[in-house]
Formats: sequence, structure tokens, C-alpha cells
Amino acid sequence: MGKYMIKALVFVILFISACSIIGLQEDYVSPESAAEVEEVEQVELPPEPEPEIIFSGMEMQPGGCFGIYLKGMTDRDEIQVTTTLVQEQPSFFPHLEGKLAIVGISCRTKDGEYKYKVQVQRDGEIAAEREEILKVMPREFDKQYLTVSTTQKDQRSDENFDEDSVHTNRAKAVTSEKPLWEGAFVKPVEGRISTDFGMIRYINKEESGRHSGFDIAAARGTPVKAANNGVVRLSMMLRVTGNTIIIDHGCNIYSSYAHLDKLLVEEGAEVKKGDIIGEVGTTGFSTGPHLHWTITIGKLFINPESLMEKDPLGFINTEGQTD
Ligand SMILES: [Zn+2]
Repeated sequence: MGKYMIKALVFVILFISACSIIGLQEDYVSPESAAEVEEVEQVELPPEPEPEIIFSGMEMQPGGCFGIYLKGMTDRDEIQVTTTLVQEQPSFFPHLEGKLAIVGISCRTKDGEYKYKVQVQRDGEIAAEREEILKVMPREFDKQYLTVSTTQKDQRSDENFDEDSVHTNRAKAVTSEKPLWEGAFVKPVEGRISTDFGMIRYINKEESGRHSGFDIAAARGTPVKAANNGVVRLSMMLRVTGNTIIIDHGCNIYSSYAHLDKLLVEEGAEVKKGDIIGEVGTTGFSTGPHLHWTITIGKLFINPESLMEKDPLGFINTEGQTD
């Protein structure tokens, strides 16, 4: 008889459990509750923003730069750029309520008109699209002839350049996701520009490419200032550029200071615009005391003047709107 009692008890327990599960399930699917949940969701979810594509300008110089700001973006939006102006896809960084890219133009870019199309895709559909004709203005770059000793010329060997680029590439592989700079960039040293950006250089009658920045003539020991706020990513002696400092200003913008006599900041240091970071010297491949100052967007050298004229964020106001 005991066996039957246990079986009966188990059956009763199972029956009660089954009833309560069904009851619970009924609770979950009851139409009133479903409606309540839906209502709560509708209240909490803000409407999705509409993407908008904004350019900082339509006319540019070879060696210049421009900004693209994408307003009203969501995390799942994808950006596609189609153009013949620059080969690489620009890097976009989160900024205010959207995404920002600062795009550099090579000094070798021929003058003319270039199509530039930006497309924002959301859930597999085109959410925004804008195609513009960007105009690159003509610009002549001067030629410069240098005569140096064989020993000095040997300092510019491929091997030395390769060795240096291991370090500079490492420094430029890291960037702050948000702009660290504030306002326009400043000239790091007062003085005459002895070699302009983009100059076509001949060393001992052999063409050696374009001058990647400004050479500013100044006496040895003259203090060198940070061109803008940023983080020091490199501070060391290199073979060609001598004592060198690289500052990351965020969003792929870097400034570099070469041939320094003294390095006064360490890697990882946060600097403010105008802070003294080193002293003018003539270390590395150099014919006399001067500062070789460059600006790169990613690895592309641009004319430092284009960041000194105006804040590259100037086309976006603080509310994320255009001026
Ligand atoms: Zn130089």
C-alpha cells in the first residue's frame, strides 16, 4: 500500500507544478501585461536621430586638410567614403552627438575637381548620402638645392630611415579618440621659416622628395613650445631627425619636433599648448641649429599652416551644429 501512496503523492505534486507553470505562462502572455510593457518602452526610447553630413569647406590647398562631421549618428551606423581625392578611408572619431574625421590632402595632389561621396548606412539601408565636388587649388612649390658632405648624406640612408620609422610608426599607432587640441595651433618657435612645407629638395643634385614641414631658424638652446594640447607619444634620439618629440593631439593629428638639443618631456606626459618641451639644436641630419616641425594626419604630412590659420573644429559649434 505504501508504494501506491508515494505514487499518488508524486502525481499530485506534478499536477500542482504543471498548473502553476501554466498559470505563470498565462501571466506572461496576458494581453494587458504585454500592452503595459510596450507602453513603457515607447516612453523610454527617444526617437532615432537623422544623420546629417557636414563638410568644413569645398576648396582646399595641396597639403591642406578639411573636416567632415556626421551629426545624429547611432552606434550601428556604417560610414562609406568614395573618392579619387585620397586613397584611404578617413578615420572617424566620436565627437559630441556625432562622428568627426579630419582628412589630410597630399602636397602632391594635382589641382582640379574631385568627387567626394559620404554615405551613412543604417540597418542595411542608406540613411544619408552627400556627394560634393571638392576643388583643389593650384600651388607651385619651390625647389631647394643642398650640398652636404658624404658623411652627412649617409645619415639619410634607407636603413636609417627604416630604423627611425619603426619608432615613429609605433608612436603614431596610438591616438586619443577625442580632440585634445583647443583652438588653432601655434608656431613652436619664433623665427624665420628657412624651408617651407612641400619644397622639392635636391641633396647633392639628387631629388630627395618633398620637405615634410617647416624649418624654423633659431639659435641653439631656444625653448620649443608644444603647438597645442596633447599627449607625448615619443621622446627619443632618432638617426635622421636626431632628438625627436611626437605629440598626439587626438583624432589622428600629430605634431613632431626634430633635431632638438634637449628633450624636456617624457613619453606619456600630457602637455598644454605653449608648454616648453625641448630646446632647438642640430642633432641628426642637420646643417645647423633649427627646428624641423611637422604635422601629420595619420601618416600623411600636411602643411602646418592649415592648422595655424583656424581651429579644425571651427566649423562645428558646441551644440554639434554648423555655424
Ligand atoms: Zn626640415
